[in-house]
Amino acid sequence: MADIRFDNLSKSYGEVSVIPSMELTIRDGEFFTFVGPSGCGKSTILNMIAGLEERSGGRILFDGEPIDHLSPGERDVAVVFQSYALYPHMSVRENLAFPLRMKKRGKREIAAEVERVAALLGIAELLGRKPAQLSGGQRQRVALGRAIIRRPRAFLMDEPLSNLDAQLRVEMRGELKRLHRELGITTIYVTHDQSEALGLSERIAVLNRGFVEQCGEPAEIYARPANLFVARFIGSPPINIVPAKILRPIPLEVECNGVILSPEAESSPKGESVLLGVRPEDLDVSGEPSSGAFEVVVSVVEPAGHRSWVEADWNGVRIRGAASPSAGLKAGQRGFASLNSKGVLVFDPESGRRI
Ligand code: ADP
Ligand code: MG
Repeated sequence: MADIRFDNLSKSYGEVSVIPSMELTIRDGEFFTFVGPSGCGKSTILNMIAGLEERSGGRILFDGEPIDHLSPGERDVAVVFQSYALYPHMSVRENLAFPLRMKKRGKREIAAEVERVAALLGIAELLGRKPAQLSGGQRQRVALGRAIIRRPRAFLMDEPLSNLDAQLRVEMRGELKRLHRELGITTIYVTHDQSEALGLSERIAVLNRGFVEQCGEPAEIYARPANLFVARFIGSPPINIVPAKILRPIPLEVECNGVILSPEAESSPKGESVLLGVRPEDLDVSGEPSSGAFEVVVSVVEPAGHRSWVEADWNGVRIRGAASPSAGLKAGQRGFASLNSKGVLVFDPESGRRI
């Protein structure tokens, strides 16, 4: 096991800088996730840790020791990719045993380890099969097993669940969390799926064009996004961002589309306007007027079990909110939206930073 530190790590392909400069420490035993849109540099980072990709500058350290001179094999990390990369001509048992055979372990020890890992992953009854005779989920379990069996210093996982169907993906999240708890091995996970990142990780780094926009615990990133990029990327359905005019800076009072609000800002705003961020779950839409509610016209109602997501037009501004299914809202109907000023985030329109 190891803590993993990036010291001014950078990567470019020719003229193109993919990772400008990264300072970051992933703690020993932590489940850490890099999340960001496609092309932001997630796989590049993982491949540099694994030694599959040369870095352009800076250093990577495991437990304080630079590892840049080590070959991929010497780094003692296990990588799990989106594609399972199992040996097709080998049985599940042989696939699992392979990393230990490479380490020249004894036959008995290998057999015992294969049984242990197969039991841990619930694939004991599949040991005699070939990869072609397995479902996608079973193959991914075997790939995980092959990573686990070596007891590496760290697991590196590059979108390992993307090829699975939605239900299995959620099931495997629970499985990964359980494995991490039982094994306690430093895990660096990469995904473009913000809900996966929120659900799995102890800490998250939100990446944008190779920059870490924010690094922190999931709840903190969700509730207190550092800037508009993070606010927009994290959360589904996405946050509403609406402009508002400053009426009074301290304590803040703003006018937003004819409605007066007093959101809580942490510092005093500059200029004459701000952007307000309101998560759809904090914007309640109902069919009945109530004090403080503003009128909207409902355009889309999307039932989602215990609540419905609502899209509505608010004097020319499109907003997303949540409604109780029992309200029976329909497209085209008048609705009444209300929000709690305390749930409103305030951003500087120039810098995009939350204030
Ligand atoms: P992600 O995994 O976040 O989708 P990648 O790390 O794969 O992103 O890629 C980051 C950026 O680096 C992308 O813009 C991609 O086009 C570029 N890139 C990746 N590999 C190469 C390469 N071999 N040559 C040039 N550009 C590359
Ligand atoms: Mg990638």
